[in-house]
Amino acid sequence: MKKAIFPGSFDPITLGHYDIIKRSVKLFDEVIVAIGINADKKYMFSLEQRQKFIEDSFKDEPKIKVVTYKGLTVDFCAKNNVDFILRGLRNPADFEFEKAIAHTNRDLAPIETVFLLTAASTSYISSSIVRDVIRNNGDYTVLVPDSVRVK
Ligand code: ADP
Repeated sequence: MKKAIFPGSFDPITLGHYDIIKRSVKLFDEVIVAIGINADKKYMFSLEQRQKFIEDSFKDEPKIKVVTYKGLTVDFCAKNNVDFILRGLRNPADFEFEKAIAHTNRDLAPIETVFLLTAASTSYISSSIVRDVIRNNGDYTVLVPDSVRVK
């Protein structure tokens, strides 16, 4: 069984993440969307909200699981028999950043990182831009799945 983890902060999930996750389902038997818990980071949305946004987006997709985790991604993979880390690439800056992480992870564990290139239509979207739009009362709904709504 081919299992992949898609780790991230998802603060909040965007249409860019959504596209990568949807496309990855064709490649793996199970895709675990894993929200990393980092006590030092300040988030706009609570862990519970971020998890619910993702769960609601994929409620009709049995191959996708949503979890939260602490610690190293490779340790999560070892404990849960996950062989692949999935990441999205938008631009050269993502590539350089992701390359260093993937090489480090391979030093730590026998794990392959699989990269999917962003869809052209969502390549400019980032959670930080979405948060900025929300803070300034803009129409963020065009950048995120329908499950992400701010009351
Ligand atoms: P992190 O805190 O690990 O950067 P993010 O939630 O920002 O977490 O991103 C998780 C993954 O999703 C990363 O691999 C990132 O490159 C990818 N990603 C983010 N936005 C997009 C997008 N618009 N298109 C494709 N991939 C994306």
